[in-house]
Amino acid sequence: MDQQPPTPSDVLAARHRLAGHVVRTPATAYPALDDVAHAAGAHDTRLVVKHENLQRTGSFKARGALNLLLHQGAPPAGIVGYSTGNHAQALAHAARQVGAPCTIVMPQAPNPVKERAVRALGADVVLHGADLTTAAAHAAHLAAARDARLVSAADEPDLVAGVATATLELLEDTGHLDVLVVPVGGGSGAAAACLVTSAFAPHVDVVGVQATGAPAAHDSWRTGHLVTRPIRTRAEGLATGRGFALTQGLMRTGLADFLLVDDDAISRAQHAYLTAARTVAEGAGAAALAAVLTHPDRFAGRRVGVVCSGGNASPDELLRALTSTGTAVPA
Ligand SMILES: *Cc1c(COP(=O)(O)O)cnc(C)c1O
Repeated sequence: MDQQPPTPSDVLAARHRLAGHVVRTPATAYPALDDVAHAAGAHDTRLVVKHENLQRTGSFKARGALNLLLHQGAPPAGIVGYSTGNHAQALAHAARQVGAPCTIVMPQAPNPVKERAVRALGADVVLHGADLTTAAAHAAHLAAARDARLVSAADEPDLVAGVATATLELLEDTGHLDVLVVPVGGGSGAAAACLVTSAFAPHVDVVGVQATGAPAAHDSWRTGHLVTRPIRTRAEGLATGRGFALTQGLMRTGLADFLLVDDDAISRAQHAYLTAARTVAEGAGAAALAAVLTHPDRFAGRRVGVVCSGGNASPDELLRALTSTGTAVPA
């Protein structure tokens, strides 16, 4: 299944196609958040937050799913996806926009916020399996049986091209950036960032971030092979068990580095977003900031874009973030 990666002109076409369908999200600097980074040891770092937590459906994934379905359409039997949540919401939202039926397979015991949202968007939800790998196999089976289109969360050129419009906006809205830090699950966000920066801003270092407990993309990038790994992270958006060919191909040459952060560091970064930027990030959405706070030396003195990729946090998750300690927010 060798797919051609999207090109910069595919990204520009996606931007045109998506106009009016997605939010041009803010890219915002917060002095109080910079203070948190400085206190963590990232001296003179200046952060710019790309607020995809304020995107339709609460994550950047709306861009990819909409671009794919607006471009390719959906077969009459509809589309099938598998997801821990945000890809599901994005697909359900996009399917409703083009009037196609949509079925989503989720692992058992999903984040209730996300499950409710998917159902509210009119999709059928099937709960199957303990993790995303099992859910994916079941989704493939359902799609084949129904003659529906299975939409992968990563190996889809139109999806990556749609997601890439977020990086285009960020570059236009912020002027000079030294580094762009992007959370990685399947890798569409980071692959898209690599594609856009290499075409339009080659001086920007793109740094990927994954959870220590689910390092499949990280390990695939480091070893140069598509590997599978266990999934032991609370950050659903990062909980992917294998590397994907399309996105790894773009990241291989495009990423300057790939860092890992643990779940407690992610909770502390969510805390920092809540208190210093007054914004709600889900775990995956806070991973890029967590990387800056846990690897401060690498970001000292640099202007750093951090993608706040999603805001669909459950109440439990927010409680944990609020009671987590360790990010000193200077008074
Ligand atoms: C899916 C997701 C990610 C990871 O994105 P990939 O494109 O799969 O690498 C990060 N953050 C959030 C909020 C997500 O929903």
